[in-house]
Amino acid sequence: MSSQDASPRLTWTEEGEPRSGRFGDVYFSRDDGLAESRAVFLQGCDLPGAWAGRQGFTVAELGFGTGLNIAAVLDLWRRTRPEGARLNVFSVEGFPLTVEEARRALSNWPELAEPAEALLEAWPEATPGFHRVDLPGFDAVLDLAVGDVGWALDQWSGTADAWFLDGFSPALNPDMWSPQVLDRIAERSAPDARLATFTVAGAVRRGLSERGFVVDKRPGHGRKRERLEARRTGLPQAEHRPQVAIVGAGIAGASVARALAAAGLTAVVIEADRPGAGGSGFPAGLATPRLDAGDAAIAGLYAQALERARHLYDATPGAVLGRGVLQLPQAERDRAERDRARFAKIADQPLWREGAMTVIDAAAAEHRLGEAQADGGLMMADARVVRPAVILEAWLEGTPVLSASVASIRRAGDRWDLLDAQGRIIVTADAVVATAGWGVEALLETGALSPVRGQADWRDGPSVEGAAWGGYVAPTGAGLLYGATHTRGDVDLTPRDADSRHNLETLKARLPQLAARLSQEGGRRVAVRASTRDRLPVAGLRSDGLHILSGLGSRGFCIAPLLGEHVAALIAGRPSPLPASLAERVSPDRF
Ligand code: SAM
Repeated sequence: MSSQDASPRLTWTEEGEPRSGRFGDVYFSRDDGLAESRAVFLQGCDLPGAWAGRQGFTVAELGFGTGLNIAAVLDLWRRTRPEGARLNVFSVEGFPLTVEEARRALSNWPELAEPAEALLEAWPEATPGFHRVDLPGFDAVLDLAVGDVGWALDQWSGTADAWFLDGFSPALNPDMWSPQVLDRIAERSAPDARLATFTVAGAVRRGLSERGFVVDKRPGHGRKRERLEARRTGLPQAEHRPQVAIVGAGIAGASVARALAAAGLTAVVIEADRPGAGGSGFPAGLATPRLDAGDAAIAGLYAQALERARHLYDATPGAVLGRGVLQLPQAERDRAERDRARFAKIADQPLWREGAMTVIDAAAAEHRLGEAQADGGLMMADARVVRPAVILEAWLEGTPVLSASVASIRRAGDRWDLLDAQGRIIVTADAVVATAGWGVEALLETGALSPVRGQADWRDGPSVEGAAWGGYVAPTGAGLLYGATHTRGDVDLTPRDADSRHNLETLKARLPQLAARLSQEGGRRVAVRASTRDRLPVAGLRSDGLHILSGLGSRGFCIAPLLGEHVAALIAGRPSPLPASLAERVSPDRF
């Protein structure tokens, strides 16, 4: 969906209210949109009563529009939420407003200023796919699905406690009310779910009652005579707070710990050595996406992951060492040719926000890197160079890290025992996440993971902007890191002179002047990456309560934050930020 196709074609009434030129309808009532939103959707779903006593609550909305309903629900949630509870909001929008348009629309309600500002501050990207944003101060997260409602509901794996159906009138916009959409709503509803809408159209009422909702017409708000309330009459699902054990304290483990804490769950991390002892222990890390010009799902997975990683790193003080990474073609002529064509295709993918992926010429590359370049490249403005130690410390804060080596995992009733080499129990937990990179293979014998040894070298002194071309260079804050080797099937952790020479040659091939200026002071280090046959990560449930997050290859800093949230959501029974089709691509089941 190109941005032009997806424009809502807004016009503004004299009262300053937005109207969709695409649908010929208003976003909210002319009288008082906020009062209507509260009467129809909040009251219609019995809020705040319905979330009393709950630890987690999920609101799903069809038609995000200006975000008014969500700002109103955030406002209410902040005033009335149960202590410690978390709100998940899922909303769908096929034709996103720009943040400026939304700001103008929401400025109609000064009393909503705070939640509106929080929403505008976090305003999700308009690129197709799911976008998760945090709403700090509200103990809430929003997942916005940008795309058609039918697709969005197919892809969402959450369960709604309350539905706001706000998709323009059924007469003007039947797609938002189709039998397929109503089917999905019914499937994705909690047993005691509530539902509210402004329309009392017969087809909607019948459709909902045929799908197990008890439907009630209520007096409407303002000029609207009636509104609709509906509810499922099942018993509420028991909420549970599983105790979670995370094996491994690298970026995968820290990402899961961060996400569980954000969802209000407690975990313990078990680490044999110290945080960052494996692949996350270098002085710098690159958060760069796997670029795929062919497989749209893979490209979409990494685009979503990079967006999430960037927001989380930017919000972690001291985490970011550099903004933007320049992807250069590989040094060999024939490969460089192919890479250039690939870069152009990637920059054209609709997955990236404006300016995120730009093909630049050799002069611009020279300007960025400080020495002459034979080629331009792909400027990945949203990629980041990050400081692993700072991220691990920040994201593991508040989660105890036990120093122990997990040798095996054993079922104990409906829980799991984690045992050391002597067979002693280290901890018992309801759910386990194995995140120990290649170490996961020894623990779980997945047959899916294979080791790839990598050595990188660093030097004090000159700094540089991040760049990658098969090799890479990245600023460390004190100098630069460059590498890395890829040796399949090798798990030897001793640094090698031959590898240091190889890394230096790789650096010289692209940045000879920099390579000639390197100081003698520095260090080097080896870690083993975990890789898979399809080079995609492994993230999800393996068997009852036993989860994996591994196989991240060299992309851990890009992909782990999002997949950590996915795994945490599976454990917490909350909506995953990942569309179902992407969750399938990374599932442990695929092998
Ligand atoms: N709840 C919004 C608010 O608080 O501002 C108002 C929503 S407006 C009445 C309806 C929204 O549904 C519009 O933003 C429109 O772009 C969106 N929409 C309409 N048809 C859609 C479709 N088939 N798929 C996804 N979104 C759609």
